[in-house]
Amino acid sequence: MPYSLFGNKFSKHSGITELMDDLNAGVKGGDDILMLGGGNPATIPKLNERFTELMATLLEQGKLIDTLANYDGPKGKDAFIAALVEMFNDLYNWNLTAENIMLTNGSQSAFFYLFNLLSGEFDNGRKKKILFPLAPEYIGYADASLSEDTFIGVKPRITELDNQQFKYNVDFDALEIGDDIGAICVSRPTNPTGNVLTDQEIEKLDRLAKSHNIPLIIDNAYGTPFPNIIFEDVKPHFNDNTILCLSLSKFGLPGARCGIVIANTEITKAMSNLSGIMALSPGGIGPEIALPLVKNKEIIKISNDIIKPFYYEKSQRAIKLLTEKIPNSNFRIHKSEGALFLWLWFKDLPISSHELYKRLKEKGLIVVSGHYFFPGLDNEWQHIHECLRLNYAQADDVVERGVDILADVVNELYSTS
Ligand code: PLP
Repeated sequence: MPYSLFGNKFSKHSGITELMDDLNAGVKGGDDILMLGGGNPATIPKLNERFTELMATLLEQGKLIDTLANYDGPKGKDAFIAALVEMFNDLYNWNLTAENIMLTNGSQSAFFYLFNLLSGEFDNGRKKKILFPLAPEYIGYADASLSEDTFIGVKPRITELDNQQFKYNVDFDALEIGDDIGAICVSRPTNPTGNVLTDQEIEKLDRLAKSHNIPLIIDNAYGTPFPNIIFEDVKPHFNDNTILCLSLSKFGLPGARCGIVIANTEITKAMSNLSGIMALSPGGIGPEIALPLVKNKEIIKISNDIIKPFYYEKSQRAIKLLTEKIPNSNFRIHKSEGALFLWLWFKDLPISSHELYKRLKEKGLIVVSGHYFFPGLDNEWQHIHECLRLNYAQADDVVERGVDILADVVNELYSTS
């Protein structure tokens, strides 16, 4: 059937669709598939106990039914927004009002709204793009725009570290911000690499964005104060020119589909109008469950005391396994500064990362090929085809068996090259 231009763009296969298909197959495939691909947060028993308690109370109080039986407004549940305003003002003195926050069905939809508000076709035939100042970036951004050719990615500076590790930094000399850039966007911590942009990098990007009169979008899906899967001591950043996006997903509630956008009122108003058209209103279940945790700031305590140590310990364990089992100087891991992933670099591997992904999948291990994570960069840079993303947050035995398969395949490839 012939589709519209929109239909053709959005019905074709995309990296994020492959990833979500794999994730679903992994969930259904049981023990036969080692799922180290998707971005599903780990199951943390203590956290699930707390969610169970909260839901039992809501059920008892009739609030669960109330929430399911009623629409909220297009910007989401008022009581939750009010509690977030109070918490953020208390923590950081950001002087927010309820007009500065709106909710979406997961932060993924917030990015779709934002990218299409701030890039694409403008008056007088002008076209604007979204700048990712540090590639690699989140795979979910790559197809989230109505027009083609919307993103510009910039290669990072690479610093080699000890213990088979390395780190990316923004190459400010390579950033070009002309009239054709509508916004700058970074994830911090970064999915896929686990990189955390330093305070200096964020301040510099903020100054650049302000001086070009464009917003700086910071994707805080893994950041502080919740879920706080961040292992570096950095400051949260917000001002009138920042669009800060948060989510309840990595806090442990991805099925609740709750994204949180904090921005100036011009942006939140535009986003709320869009939300009315696209979704009527965002779902209320996530906000209702998390409301008591925000009101008494337990969300911060849980993030600091349960979530962060859980992921930190897992990331260190996986790094140890990987470096022991792949003792090759061409193999490096990006310094793990946050998020759920390890970013693996197989320098001069004789096959591409996509081919490696396929070989691992045949052996029952699912990871994600790194080439998807360079939106806005042309494919010619060899590095794009040398990396894999691995979710380290699954059960220890699953990670261990996954690393075994990866090590067998990669060690064999290096030894025969
Ligand atoms: N941003 C980043 C960096 C992510 O990794 C994800 C999910 O993996 C999202 C945004 C979207 O998350 P959600 O739509 O579940 O809030």
